[in-house]
Amino acid sequence: MSIIDIHTHPVFFNDGIKPAETRLMIKHARQQGIEHVVSLGDVLRYGRTPKSEHLRILNDETAGLIQRSRGFVVGFCYVNPLLGEKAVRAEVDRCVGEKGFRGIKLELSCNATNPAMAGVMHAAREHGVPVLQHSWNQLYKSSRSFHSDPEDTCALAKEWPDVRIIMAHLTGSGFRGVRAARGLDNLVVDTSGGGPENGLIEYAVEQLGERRVVYGSDYPIRDFPCCINRIKGADISARAKQRLLHDNAAELLGL
Ligand SMILES: [Zn+2]
Repeated sequence: MSIIDIHTHPVFFNDGIKPAETRLMIKHARQQGIEHVVSLGDVLRYGRTPKSEHLRILNDETAGLIQRSRGFVVGFCYVNPLLGEKAVRAEVDRCVGEKGFRGIKLELSCNATNPAMAGVMHAAREHGVPVLQHSWNQLYKSSRSFHSDPEDTCALAKEWPDVRIIMAHLTGSGFRGVRAARGLDNLVVDTSGGGPENGLIEYAVEQLGERRVVYGSDYPIRDFPCCINRIKGADISARAKQRLLHDNAAELLGL
């Protein structure tokens, strides 16, 4: 089975930036049956609210990876909503419009319910690309102003039903995050984040359906074999495994 990994950081705090390192990453990925990885960028190198010049550096690195890998790497455009709609739009136009990136990545600049998100959603809608939002259980934590809880990401999806949202980190979102995502047809959850948790993949497929769960690893924070085999070893149908590991991502990315 060929596999698409929708959540990786081939460059992570500058590691992986050299061409030899890219080749090694691709070799490891191919050994696991992976045919494409989505690079979300080295998102925290400049802190959680990067400036426009920082975003250009990070997104240009992703463009370099796409070129060097001859399309093995698929790019998502990393943006900071707090820079305002004009700046967000310029970077999305540059990366998605000119360089062929296939999605938008949001990390920790602001919470998914911040009004500044409108600029990102307008850009995503016009370019017809999905938005991958970092999400992790944030109840009772003071960092909620910038760190999106799964319920915040689900609220975003509810507010923008014509934009496709990828809620990152099934493990970080947990059973509660899956419950929050029920009935939101424009939202899929990626399976990255943390070690495998017994029953969680099965629960997500049961509650959301096999079209709304998509494989991601968060490489190099997590390794490919562990993240793939948590799906291959799950108690779900062969057809559902095919959907999670390949077909859903192929549809989201237009591959
Ligand atoms: Zn990540």
